[in-house]
Formats: sequence, structure tokens, C-alpha cells
Amino acid sequence: THEVEHLKEKLISQAQEVSRLRSELGGTDLEKHRDLLMVENERLRQEMRRCEAELQELRAKPAAPCTGCEHSQESAQLRDRLSQLQLEVAENKGLLSELNLEVQQKTDRLAEVELRLKDCLAEKAQEEERLSRRLRDSHETIASLRAQSPPIKYVIKTVEVESSKTKQALSESQARNQHLQEQVAMQRQVLKEMEQQLQSSHQLTAQLRAQIAMYESELERAHGQMLEEMQSLEEDKNRAIEEAFARAQVEMKAVHENLAGVRTNLLTLQPALRTLTNDYNGLKRQVRGFPLLLQEALKSVKAEIGQAIEEVNSNNQELLRKYRRELQLRKKCHNELVRLKGNIRVIARVRPVTKEDGEGPEATNAVTFDPDDDSIIHLLHKGKPVSFELDKVFSSQASQQDVFQEVQALITSCIDGFNVCIFAYGQTGAGKTYTMEGTPENPGINQRALRLLFSEVQEKASDWEYTITVSAAEIYNEVLRDLLGQEPQEKLEIRLCPDGSGQLYVPGLTEFQVQSVEDINKVFEFGHTNRTTEFTNLNEHSSRSHALLIVTVRGVDCSTGLRTTGKLNLVDLAGSERVGKSGAEGSRLREAQHINKSLSALGDVIAALRSRQGHVPFRNSKLTYLLQDSLSGDSKTLMVVQVSPVEKNTSETLYSLKFAERVRSVELGPGSRRTELGSWSSQEHLEWESACQTPQPSARAHSAPGSGTTSRPGSIRRKLQPSA
Ligand code: ADP
Ligand code: MG
Repeated sequence: THEVEHLKEKLISQAQEVSRLRSELGGTDLEKHRDLLMVENERLRQEMRRCEAELQELRAKPAAPCTGCEHSQESAQLRDRLSQLQLEVAENKGLLSELNLEVQQKTDRLAEVELRLKDCLAEKAQEEERLSRRLRDSHETIASLRAQSPPIKYVIKTVEVESSKTKQALSESQARNQHLQEQVAMQRQVLKEMEQQLQSSHQLTAQLRAQIAMYESELERAHGQMLEEMQSLEEDKNRAIEEAFARAQVEMKAVHENLAGVRTNLLTLQPALRTLTNDYNGLKRQVRGFPLLLQEALKSVKAEIGQAIEEVNSNNQELLRKYRRELQLRKKCHNELVRLKGNIRVIARVRPVTKEDGEGPEATNAVTFDPDDDSIIHLLHKGKPVSFELDKVFSSQASQQDVFQEVQALITSCIDGFNVCIFAYGQTGAGKTYTMEGTPENPGINQRALRLLFSEVQEKASDWEYTITVSAAEIYNEVLRDLLGQEPQEKLEIRLCPDGSGQLYVPGLTEFQVQSVEDINKVFEFGHTNRTTEFTNLNEHSSRSHALLIVTVRGVDCSTGLRTTGKLNLVDLAGSERVGKSGAEGSRLREAQHINKSLSALGDVIAALRSRQGHVPFRNSKLTYLLQDSLSGDSKTLMVVQVSPVEKNTSETLYSLKFAERVRSVELGPGSRRTELGSWSSQEHLEWESACQTPQPSARAHSAPGSGTTSRPGSIRRKLQPSA
């Protein structure tokens, strides 16, 4: 019994232990924990939802007022930050749900363990019942055995045996109990782990909550900032409005002031207007009386003007008288000036090198000029430099106009009644015809002179009446022919005027009156045609004949009836080249002799004129005889010596320039004259003289009768002749 008691006690304590274990293990605690977590979870979820809602609200709010404002950037930053935070929240949510899942799993496992525990407990209860039943059976057996005393010992034995069985069962159950306890310990361990996990999840939740709080505060701050900015913007706007308003008020004030000024001005203008109207009325009255006044004034003025005109008229008469006297004086002075200046001038013109000059050393240039003195020309003759001084030298660059400029004054003096001669002298091809006639595109002196005369006459048309006539003639082999006549072959004679004036005239020489440039062209054309039809080789012919254009300008002074006659003789001379000793025969020789004679005669006449000799040998050639009027007295002469620049012509060039210099220097004093004449009688000249074999040496002795001075060129040449 003692043993039974003991077992009972043990059983009770075991039962207690089991119940304690159950209460210890009891899912209630764990469940409570889980519930708590769930609740916590739910609360967090709600909080999160609220946060999201707020966020949404905040996001919606600032969008409207802040578009384009300077804080939009900041707000965008904030928004970015917000979206970042949202992302983090989402992450945290994920984490939370993971944790929730874990908790769920753990609760599931707990439920399982509980189930297993229940099973164990049920098994234990069964075992206990079985054991208690057996115990009761044993008690009953013991009781029945006690009643039957003798066999009791035996019974006891059995009981003992049975009791050992029980003991075994007990030990078994103890072992099982042990096992269960182990299991419980294990469960506890698991529970502890789970608790730890739970704790960590708690911590995480706390962390998340702190983060959420931080985000919230940040959001709040951003919101506050935004509000502040909006406030400041609003203030700015109000300030601007106020300023604008103040300005407008000031302007209004100024306008008002202006208006007031204008008003006062208007008030002062009104009286001015009144006085103006008064003035106007007064003037009106005065104007009514004006015509009468004007008539009176006109009458008196007319009378005054009449008087003045009479005075002017008488003055004019006086002036006219004076003018005429002055005119006479001017002519006298002019004559004197010309006399002083020398009325014979010699210029040279060098033509440019042309294609006809060919190429090679023969066509090289042999003529140079002095850049500082336009009256000097240098010639390189057979390697020797020779220089000449003339009145003027035109280089090959000189234009037709340049040359004309030089002779212009001479030509206009025709209008004043002077006689003028212009000669072109030089070897064939040196540019004589170019200078005198020129080309249609670039006319020479002939046409330019006539044009100038026309324009000058036109200018004087109010006081003078002029007629200009033109004749053209040719002298070939000492025969004079009319180039404008119907019969150009007819020989013309030079006669003394029958009126006893001593003037010469050519009966039958055609004279055309010209009034315009077209007229001149017609005359020239006619003369040209006549010459061309007459001679098959015009070039050759023209180089051996002298061509003359004679322009006569006759004027009558309308006021005085004074008459003037001026003659302009433009002469394109025959070529001055000398024919070689052996080269010439027959007609060629005769031509050469005639040319030589007439050119020599011209030189002699000019020389005689310039040296003012008493006798001038005009009659030695047809040319000088014809031009007698125009060479003597106060008439003027210009000799244009044409020069070819090329090497092969240097001999002729030298000869031409010597001729030019001789003609020019005749006027010099007697001492120098002699030396100049010496240079004229050069070797070339002698050669030429001999070549020509002049049958009439007296042609050069023209000045013999009454010449008197031995220094005359003719005499010198005559002296030299025997040596040839
Ligand atoms: P000349 O009458 O002395 O025989 P030309 O007047 O017929 O000589 O001239 C010979 C050539 O040289 C012509 O073809 C002419 O056009 C040309 N000539 C002469 N002088 C000039 C010049 N100053 N400028 C241009 N060409 C010229
Ligand atoms: Mg010619």
C-alpha cells in the first residue's frame, strides 16, 4: 500500500507536471503574441494608407499654382524625393508581407506542435487510466487476498510480481514521459527562436515606422516650404500691383497738370487771335487802296527807267567807241607779241613704231626724249647720240588732240584776220598725212581746225558775220592743180590781183563755202575722189606732191562794217627723203629734183623771213609763190617736222631734224646764225645736192639779187657747192 500510495503520488505529480507543461506550452501565449502582431500589422497598414492618401493630396495641391514659378524646380526635387520615399515604403511593405508570411508559417508550425502535444497528452491519459485501472484491480486483488489469509503470501508474491510488471510499465511510461519532456524542451527551443524572430521583426517594424515618420516630417517640411514660397509670390504680386498703381497715379497727375497748362494757353491765345483778326481787317482795308498806289508808283518808276535807258544808251555808244579803239589796239599788240615771240615756230612729232617698220635691229627705236624738257629730242645715229632743240617735241604717245592743242591759237587767229600756214614736213611714212588728215575715227589738224573755226565763229555771231570757204590744191612737179574742180588735170596759174593791191590769186581755183562739219566731210571726200581717179598709185603720188587745204575766213563786224580776211593754209608736203646718187633716173629723178627744189625754197623762204631779210625768195617755187601772202607780213607759220623713230630711218630723221633746227634758229643773232648754218651744210646735205645734180643751181641762189648779207644760208650753200 505504501508503494501504491507512492505511485499515486507520483502519478498525481506527473499529472500536475503535465498540466503545468501544458499551461507552459499552452498555445494561448503564442496565440496572444500572434494576435498582437496581427493587430500591430493592421495598424501599420492603416497608417501607411493614410500616409499615401496624404501624399496623394500633397501631390495634387502644388501642381496648380506653381507652374512655371521658380520653386517648381524645388518642388520637382521634392517630388522626386517623395517618389523615392514611396519606393522605399513599397519595399518596406514587401518586407512586412514577407515577415507576415513567416509569422503565419510559424503559427502553423506551432499549431502542429500543439496538435502533437495533445496527442501525447491523450496517450498519457489513456496510459494513466490503464494504470489506475490496474492499480484498482491490484487493490481489489490485494483486498481479496487479505480476506483469504493463507494464500495471501502467495498473493503478495503475485502482486509483487504484478507490481514489478507495473513498475516496468511505470518505467516505460517514465521513459515516454522523458521523451515527451525532451520534445517539450525542443518545442520550447523552437518557441524561443520564434520569439527572437518576432522580436527582430518588431525591431524592423519600429525601424520602418521611424523611417515613415522621417518621410512624413520631410513631406511636411516640403509642404511648408511650398506654402512659404506661395506666400512670398503672392506678396511680390501685391507689391507690383501697388507700384504700378502708384506710377499710374503719378502719370495721371502729370497729364492733369499738362491739361491745365494747355487750358491756360488756350485762354491766353484767345486774345491774341482777337488782335490778329483786328490786324487782318486793317490790312484788308489797306489792300483795297493798294492798286491806286501801285499805279502811281509804276508811273514814276517807268519815267525813271526811261531816263536810265537813255543814259545807258549814251554810255553804250561811248563804250562801243572805246571797244573799237581797243580792238585796233589789241591787234596791234598781238602783232607786236607775235613779232616778239617769232611768228615762225617749229615743232617735231615722232610717230610710234608700226608693224610696217618690220622687226629686228633695223626696227629698234633710236629716238628718246628729255623727261624734263619737252623741246629736246635725242637721236642715236650710227651709234652717235645727237640732240636737237625745237620749239616743242611731241613723243609717239602724243594724241591728235595734244598736237591740235598746240596749234589751236594759231588757227583762231585766222578769225582776227591773220594768215596762217601749217606745214607737215618729213620723209615718206613719218606721219605727215596722219597729222594733217588723220583717220576718220581720229581726225587730224584739217578737220579739227575747221570744227574749231565753226564753233569760234558761232560764238562771235552776235557781232560778226563770217563766211568760211575751202579750196584744195596740189603741187606736183611744180604744176598747180585744183583738187575740187571739175577738171583736175588743168594747170592753174598764180596771178597778181588786177586791183593793184599786190595780192596774188589763182584764177579758176574752186572755192566751196562750208557751214558745217558735214560740209567739210563732203569737200574732203570730193578732193580725195578726184585724186584717186587721177592717179593709180595714190600713196606714191601723194608722197611726191604737196597737198594744200586753203581755208579762208571772211568777217564783217556788224556794228562797224569793218572787214577782215584770214587764210589758213594746211600743207601736207611731199616726202623729204633724198634719192640716192645712183638710184634715180628719168621721171623719178625729175620728181626728186622738183621736190628738192620746192622744199629747199620753203626752207630758204622761212629762213629769210625769220632773219628778216629785205628780200624773200618766194618765187623760187610754186609752193612759196602761192603761199607768199600767208608767209609774209604779220602772218604765222608752223612747221611740224615728222620723225620716224626706227633705226633704219635715222639718216632721214637726222636730215629732217637738221632742217627743222635750221629753220628755227635762223632768227638767232648773226654770230650763232653762222654756226647753225654750218650744221645745215652737213655731209648728207652735200651728198644730196650732188645726187640731185640740180641743173639750176640758181634755184638755191634765189636770194642773190639784193640779198646783201653774206651770212644768208643760200650764199653759204652756194659757196659750198663747187666742192661737191
Ligand atoms: P606720210 O604721210 O608722212 O607718208 P603717214 O601719215 O601716211 O606718213 O603715216 C605712215 C603710217 O604711220 C600710217 O599707217 C599712219 O597711220 C601711221 N602713223 C603715223 N603717225 C602716227 C601716229 N602718231 N600714231 C599712229 N599711227 C601713226
Ligand atoms: Mg602722206
